[in-house]
Amino acid sequence: MNLEQLVRANVWNMKPYSSARDEFKGDASVFLDANENPLNDKYNRYPDPLQWALKEKIGKVKGVSPEHIFLGNGSDEPIDLVIRVFCEPRKDNIVAIDPTYGMYQVCADVNDIEYRKVLLKENFDLDAAKLLEKVDSNTKLIFLCSPNNPTGNLLNRKEIEKILDSFAGIVIVDEAYIDFASEDSWLSELDKYPNLVVLQTFSKAWGLAAVRLGMAFSSPEIIRLFNKVKYPYNVNILTQNFVSEELDKLELRKEWISTLLKGRDYLKNELPKLSFVEKIYPTDANFLLVKVGDANGLYKQLADKGVIVRNRNSVSLCAGCLRITVGTDEENRILIDTLQSL
Ligand SMILES: *Cc1c(COP(=O)(O)O)cnc(C)c1O
Repeated sequence: MNLEQLVRANVWNMKPYSSARDEFKGDASVFLDANENPLNDKYNRYPDPLQWALKEKIGKVKGVSPEHIFLGNGSDEPIDLVIRVFCEPRKDNIVAIDPTYGMYQVCADVNDIEYRKVLLKENFDLDAAKLLEKVDSNTKLIFLCSPNNPTGNLLNRKEIEKILDSFAGIVIVDEAYIDFASEDSWLSELDKYPNLVVLQTFSKAWGLAAVRLGMAFSSPEIIRLFNKVKYPYNVNILTQNFVSEELDKLELRKEWISTLLKGRDYLKNELPKLSFVEKIYPTDANFLLVKVGDANGLYKQLADKGVIVRNRNSVSLCAGCLRITVGTDEENRILIDTLQSL
């Protein structure tokens, strides 16, 4: 892989914004360099633009060194950044699995980048050879999502490996749901594959969707490119400090995950007992894709009773399907009771 050839020339050649906090690092007692108001202690100073203290802590939890970590305003930020760093509008293209998470195409569209979708197999498995057929000399990125949203399954590791081995561009593996999965993360393969970008988030297993913190893991060279293009202070101090404290609650988070996996088993057992449930797809995430006769009708009936699920009827390969998130034990029971009453 030749990084300089892959990156947009303007991004490769530009000089990034240099903030006051970039230019002076070290100990001092009088800071008159950033036009801050000195009178509102705790919140008056610009935060660390590269969030090193938080990255150290995340790195310990993930077994990755801080230079391999990018932090953003949710995963949405690195999804947008990877496109802006590598893809030349109206010239380059992106190849992605279909169905998958909708933000990849939204960000491609905003940036005016052609987005090529390749259908998964009927059972939602990845066919690497079929996906690679869509790749041409202008393909810069391949988006994969494992466990995939909205299907819930892990993509086959060997097929992902084939793509990492044979594609000369960047492969993004979105692992938003990896904490609920039965297989290990791709994080341990970062050194082996310099073209791999792994996305994770605090929005799902960590229970922090409102806080907006997403992670990208990759080679230090690729992380530096993200840092070059991002807004200088993209993660505010409230988020940095709060997540740093949340990272101490590793035991609690383990308990949450085991509670949610039990809830998933409960729904897996109860849903097939309903006459209109045709199929529950295998899942490695905190949601289930469920095939029912009339997804639109059932969605409305549930909504009328105050129970909201996600209607995926119009998504590729998901006709007749609802996506149901695992809730609290009580929410799961209400869902099943409500379905039984219809
Ligand atoms: C929920 C989800 C995310 C999380 O996005 P954030 O911006 O971090 O909240 C990322 N990818 C996928 C596939 C998701 O389903």
